Amino acid sequence: MKSRVVFLISAALVVTAGCSNTSSDAVESEDSPVSCTSTTVIDGPVNIATTVAPITSIVANIAGGSGATITGIVPEGTNSHTFEPKPSDAATLENADVIFINGLVLEEPTKDLALANLKDGAIICEVGSAILSPDQYIYDFSFPKDGGKPNPHLWTNPPMAKQYAEVVRDVLSRLDPAHADLFARNFAAFAEKIDALDAAMITATATIPEAQRKLLTYHDAYAYFSVHYGYTVIGAIQPSSFDEPTPKEIANLITQVRESGVTAVFGSEVFPSPVLEQIGAETGVRYVDVLRDDDLLGEPGGAEHSWLGLMRFDYVTMVEALGGDASALKTLDVSDVVKDTATYPQ
Ligand SMILES: [Zn+2]
Repeated sequence: MKSRVVFLISAALVVTAGCSNTSSDAVESEDSPVSCTSTTVIDGPVNIATTVAPITSIVANIAGGSGATITGIVPEGTNSHTFEPKPSDAATLENADVIFINGLVLEEPTKDLALANLKDGAIICEVGSAILSPDQYIYDFSFPKDGGKPNPHLWTNPPMAKQYAEVVRDVLSRLDPAHADLFARNFAAFAEKIDALDAAMITATATIPEAQRKLLTYHDAYAYFSVHYGYTVIGAIQPSSFDEPTPKEIANLITQVRESGVTAVFGSEVFPSPVLEQIGAETGVRYVDVLRDDDLLGEPGGAEHSWLGLMRFDYVTMVEALGGDASALKTLDVSDVVKDTATYPQ
């Protein structure tokens, strides 16, 4: 498995080398601390920093029980796409042996602060960039190619989240080989739950009439998810500037909603939008405003405050709003595989 990760990273490098329009996230040299491969071995528990809460939760499921300290940087419920770390976050970053970030240019200000404060031998592992080569990046309305920021939401797609967990397992196993067996066991148990979630979503999706498997979302967090489960993203509303769309764009969306026969439009809890409400009202289509892509449910320590709980919630919301039966999802056990002791800023 170790060799697989190395292969994926070198595959990404090959593609990057031949492409002139790539962003800094994918450019890694052998000596760069921006890497998911390190030969450093830590004496004692690993100090881990993470960015967004879903990644923190995935890391917590793999690292749990090893004594590792896990500290998130991006507060839950904030816009992770425009987030600027506080100067005080430098202390968390400079203490870390490894900083797991999503990559795909999601967290550049945090990455820059990390690079400026990284201790000797520490690495910044971009889990998304590690599992996906730039030619597989999805660009769209909210994440246009000429903006240089690909759609970064790989974690809403379970097979990709499982690959994140695999990268985390391999990185931690190299840093803390004494706990490699624990990381492998945690990964195996977590992978089983991810597979169960994936299977349940496939079952639930099959109950939605095929013509209704269409997503119009405010925040564009389901691009890779949609490819995997066979949904058509008929549009996302949020412009790349994170401002509200223009009246012309709204008019186009209203036409699109009418023509596509979509049964529901989905808002995001982190980005409340009067525009989506307006589109729902003008088209008579149901408006659901509770999706969330990186704000976990409830409070830290809560039963569904986890990546698994978050995804199940979003999937149930979508399936039911689109006229499907979500019971396969509702009966899932979405508890973490080990106690989550990570720090989640609120
Ligand atoms: Zn997002």
